[in-house]
Amino acid sequence: MMHQEKENNTLIRNALLINEGSRRYADVAISGDRIISVMPAFDGETDQDTRVIDATGLWLLPGIIDDHVHFREPGLTHKGDISSESAAAAAGGVTSFMEMPNTVPQTTSLEAWHQKNILAAEASVINYSFYIGGTDSNISELLSADPGLVPAVKLFMGASTGNMLVSREEALESIFKIKSLPVACHCEDEKIIRANSAAFREAYGDDIDPSFHPLIRSREACLSSSTAAIERARRAGTRLHLLHLSTAEETGLLTPGNDPSVKQIIGEGCVHHLWFDDSSYADKGNLIKWNPPIRKSTDREALLTAVRNNLIDIIATDHAPHTLEEKRAPYFSAPSGGPMVQHSLVMMLELCHRGELTPELVVTKMCHNPAIIFSIGERGFIREGYKADLVLVDPSAPWTVRTENILYKCGWSPLEGTTFRSRVMTTIVNGIRVFEDGRLTGRKAPEMLRFNR
Ligand SMILES: [Zn+2]
Repeated sequence: MMHQEKENNTLIRNALLINEGSRRYADVAISGDRIISVMPAFDGETDQDTRVIDATGLWLLPGIIDDHVHFREPGLTHKGDISSESAAAAAGGVTSFMEMPNTVPQTTSLEAWHQKNILAAEASVINYSFYIGGTDSNISELLSADPGLVPAVKLFMGASTGNMLVSREEALESIFKIKSLPVACHCEDEKIIRANSAAFREAYGDDIDPSFHPLIRSREACLSSSTAAIERARRAGTRLHLLHLSTAEETGLLTPGNDPSVKQIIGEGCVHHLWFDDSSYADKGNLIKWNPPIRKSTDREALLTAVRNNLIDIIATDHAPHTLEEKRAPYFSAPSGGPMVQHSLVMMLELCHRGELTPELVVTKMCHNPAIIFSIGERGFIREGYKADLVLVDPSAPWTVRTENILYKCGWSPLEGTTFRSRVMTTIVNGIRVFEDGRLTGRKAPEMLRFNR
């Protein structure tokens, strides 16, 4: 154990820290799994057991906390698994994830939730936690869930994934009355989508152009469902987390405020909605088919404005891998979702290079706010005494996404051919270097996330 401890003494020197809304040069010392000091850069001697990382020219950020991923295990492991997707996440600078319940079996019982945690403790490269899904009939399971270990109840209000659609009025009512956990909602009105699907199928058949996707899963479907969820939450006093907002109109439902700890309604934006617009359907087709869909450039701009104005509090990925074969099916058979978790940070930093966001804002939305909103203790910030979850980024080391540098089990990305100016160099989880100098080290440092509620 002595050897392990020495190995984990690390001094990161001369990094530009981007943390808590500002930037400054500093040295950060790690001992074991913790940050033990954050101090002005200095030239003194370090003791022999300390590994020194010269971070001159690099940025040091808190590790990303991604509150919305689908890692496909158990049951859908031909698309991805906890080991492969958490490794890809580590390569992207992500140090913690919260995973959604639409696996097989679905995570709608405490037993299924427990089994996932056992898998992750063994297989995950990074910190983990798992949502529990709300159904028409599992309220007793939800009420027994430990609020210190479960991030939230995931609710599909009108989604088409699996059979987790909650439609019974009394079930919805009792889920919104749960006070021990927040409710995270996928809001798309199923009735509107069914009617649109039927009309488009009738007019164009099965193999319709993917550019119709935002008309079928229409903005009205999102707005109607989000409005209903907010009204319900306000009535019941529920803490509501609106997942993957996609329309300009929905940003108008949110309340501004740069202290998300006091907000009742939390808005989540996803990297693909901040990156793509509908001009990409011609080239990418079903590869950029997401629920809710990629929409107009004016929607993308409204979402970015909402991020800047603190209407949207969290940026996540909704990482949802499918095989290329599955995505190449005709429109109605091609599944929605795409792999994102290896590229989310460099995508957002690219928007910084373009002047659309700032690195401080990216750190707030991807690191600080998830920690604040979910009450994750000792993570999400670069602070003395906190867990050493850190990422070093080279802001000027251009690279291009290619098949050979994709780590997702599915082996593809809608970003192939895209050049990013920033590159993740090293990712440290609980003091362990899981990704170093642009390579996975083969080490794992999984800890279950704890929520101080
Ligand atoms: Zn999702």
